Amino acid sequence: MSMDLVTILYLVASVCFIQALKGLSHPTTSIRGNVFGMVGMLIAVLTTAALIVQLAGGALGLGWVLLGLLVGGTAGSVMAQRVEMTKMPELVAFMHSMIGLAAVFIAVAAVAEPWAFSISGHGQPIPGGNRVELALGAFIGAITFTGSVIAFGKLSGKYKFRLFQGRPVQFAGQHWLNLGLGLLAVFFIVGFWHSQSWLDIILVIALGFALGVLLIIPIGGADMPVVVSMLNSYSGWAAAGIGFSLNNAMLIIAGSLVGSSGAILSYIMCKAMNRSFFNVILGGFGGDAATAAAGAQEQRNVKSGSADDAAFVLGNAESVVIVPGYGLAVARAQHAVKELAAKLTEKGIDVKYAIHPVAGRMPGHMNVLLAEAEVPYDQVFEMEDINGEFGQVDVAIILGANDVVNPAAHVKGTAIYGMPILEAYKAKTVIVNKRSMAAGYAGLDNELFYMDKTMMVFGDAKKVVEDMTKAVE
Ligand code: NDP
Repeated sequence: MSMDLVTILYLVASVCFIQALKGLSHPTTSIRGNVFGMVGMLIAVLTTAALIVQLAGGALGLGWVLLGLLVGGTAGSVMAQRVEMTKMPELVAFMHSMIGLAAVFIAVAAVAEPWAFSISGHGQPIPGGNRVELALGAFIGAITFTGSVIAFGKLSGKYKFRLFQGRPVQFAGQHWLNLGLGLLAVFFIVGFWHSQSWLDIILVIALGFALGVLLIIPIGGADMPVVVSMLNSYSGWAAAGIGFSLNNAMLIIAGSLVGSSGAILSYIMCKAMNRSFFNVILGGFGGDAATAAAGAQEQRNVKSGSADDAAFVLGNAESVVIVPGYGLAVARAQHAVKELAAKLTEKGIDVKYAIHPVAGRMPGHMNVLLAEAEVPYDQVFEMEDINGEFGQVDVAIILGANDVVNPAAHVKGTAIYGMPILEAYKAKTVIVNKRSMAAGYAGLDNELFYMDKTMMVFGDAKKVVEDMTKAVE
């Protein structure tokens, strides 16, 4: 295989990856995007395998590569098939930790036998530029590995180990310690560049592992999706760094795409939550405040009704907007909601879904959930497109959502001040389903629940929605 052919195949794979990202930007094109991604990855892997055979002058070592692909591919497919929708961020965190570790392993292998990667001639030292790239790739990879492991533990919330618990771990001088370790890592990267000594690269990796843990422990469990997307970005840059040292254009392009798209996603999420990136990274948001606010709310009165009452109101409306939130995912009520919507539509009622960009606990959470239940895309509206309509809507029905409809976002000084919200409070009647008066993720009370036109229907979303569907005449 000529190098020209390799370059062309890598180029085709890169175009597939770009098309994949484009396709994933909308639910209607997301399946096509996934197919592009898979085809691109297949081309990249097969081309690289053929290249290995060629460089090694035979199928030497290819058996190991195929074994790795088989074991990794099988484990990945089984995990992805079994994962529940609310556990998706955990799976992503796990995948990132593997990318980080792979970057560290490749860097170590390349330092041990640089000639096997065509970085230098047999017995020759690694060129200076490649040393810096390898050290940087290994450092970022090490941070990504341990950081993602901590994120995984915090997201799963089922381990007793203190560092894996959602509550932030904070101590005096934490940020100075991190800064100090970061500077120390720079010192050893320069050392490795200068002398190519094993001690320097091992210390760089060890500092990366330590920093990964220290950077993530002060961040609360509920902020982890932003962190996961940031670590996603890191893993891309680590891969790109290694790609430069291995002189592999595919790795550089794929790594940069992952790195930049992860960074853009983190930015979009922070913007939709009206929080600065540093506010998230420095940690401590929500958490205990949620419990405190929940206690304070018990005192005030709300109007509550049964599923039958809500069904009566819905049945008499001409237009209904459904606002799904995190609770809908917890209750796995997406299929039940689709049935309710279908029954209302049958009665000639105009039904729409309103999606907030950060409803749920991961980007696109509600879109994925509704797509799983095969809700027609033409009924699903993004916040900017539907906010103007709430004033004319007969009933806004809020299912397991809280912060994304909280008018406190308009009140200066509140934790979510400035966060764009779905303006469900403008609807003529509001129905809210949740299990209790407990606060949402931001730990704030929600004035919407106390409005005269609001009816609270308490209970698990799946059960309540099923009961409403039965009761709609
Ligand atoms: P919230 O966490 O604000 O509210 C969810 C509500 O669902 C809770 O008030 C809870 O009340 C209710 N609930 C939980 N389980 C059930 C159930 N089984 N049946 C019925 N109701 C239930 O979620 P939102 O979606 O409104 O907002 C998302 C929040 O998460 C935002 O603050 C956002 O910034 C944040 N976030 C989002 C990320 C993303 O990428 N999407 C990433 C990180 C944070 P109760 O316990 O009383 O039932």
